[in-house]
Amino acid sequence: MGAAVLTAEQMARYSRQIILKEIGGIGQRHLLDAHIMVLGVGALGASALLYLGGAGVGRLTLVDDARVADSLLPGDIIHERIHAGQPVVYSAKQRIHAVNPEVEISALDLPLSDDYVIDKIKSVDLVLDLSADLSLKWDQVCIQQRVPLFSGWVDQHGGWAAASLVGVESEAVCMRCQGIKQRGNVTAIEPFSGLLAGMVGTVLATEACKWLMGLGTGLRGQRWCFSPFDTAFKAYPVERQGDCPVCSKGSVADKVVEDRQEDDAGAACIDITTEQCPMTFVKVKLKLESMPPGQELTIRLNGGEPLHNVPLSLVDEGCWVSSPMADDQTGTFILKTRRPTS
Ligand SMILES: [Zn+2]
Repeated sequence: MGAAVLTAEQMARYSRQIILKEIGGIGQRHLLDAHIMVLGVGALGASALLYLGGAGVGRLTLVDDARVADSLLPGDIIHERIHAGQPVVYSAKQRIHAVNPEVEISALDLPLSDDYVIDKIKSVDLVLDLSADLSLKWDQVCIQQRVPLFSGWVDQHGGWAAASLVGVESEAVCMRCQGIKQRGNVTAIEPFSGLLAGMVGTVLATEACKWLMGLGTGLRGQRWCFSPFDTAFKAYPVERQGDCPVCSKGSVADKVVEDRQEDDAGAACIDITTEQCPMTFVKVKLKLESMPPGQELTIRLNGGEPLHNVPLSLVDEGCWVSSPMADDQTGTFILKTRRPTS
């Protein structure tokens, strides 16, 4: 999807976050171009979806086969009593559009195990698992598809928020190594606080948007836990377990990283970390002009002024630009871009 120019209506709607120096027009464009899949439209999904839609995430795919129920409304604030008995995904879609009609929404009234859902993950930018099932399979699927996974949970003891960036960042830690345990289908009535669920859902929506805008995430390398009754909030550092079949050496993640390195080796790349502005953009522009329109160029650059100016100049020329990815080992950043084909 190309980097659209903001319309006057969008500038007015998102003005409060655009004027934040950390977001700006580029950050807003990243949100508008983003596609998030949300697994579970219950208590955590309710708050997350309202904020994702309000913030201007361009596309949302909602997956849940549950129905709106009166007993769930204290936590599921996205739904209304008049929609009791309706599929939660349709109810949520109506409410998001009442907040922000420009969000493109796919409402999938399907079980999470449906093959279509799993296949769809390869076409999204990020997955938010906010379902009650808490299945570790999403981590493996997202790693294979190189899609970041953000997940959260609440129960009578408290709540937590975590992210698995194993498919997209080196040295990332999988959900299993973060202590997340497989849960399976839930049949019993679970006691929990809807207020806490709203808080965890909002935290995850915030961290997902930050990652999409290239602002990193506070969930990198740590898991956040929340206690509802003593208002405690703690961050626990996490690290890879040596024998982990998912993210240790020789694991699923290793193969994904190898494939990514092969892809990168075959792609056009330019390193402008030794250049100063305006030569940073001049070199990128000349490189792009030597390539056919539509071919992807990978740019390695420093933070600071180049990280601000180069994507801004590319967007002004109508190019698609990815969110920057930090390379913690070198302290530089990676951008991907391509000229429009017409
Ligand atoms: Zn692991």
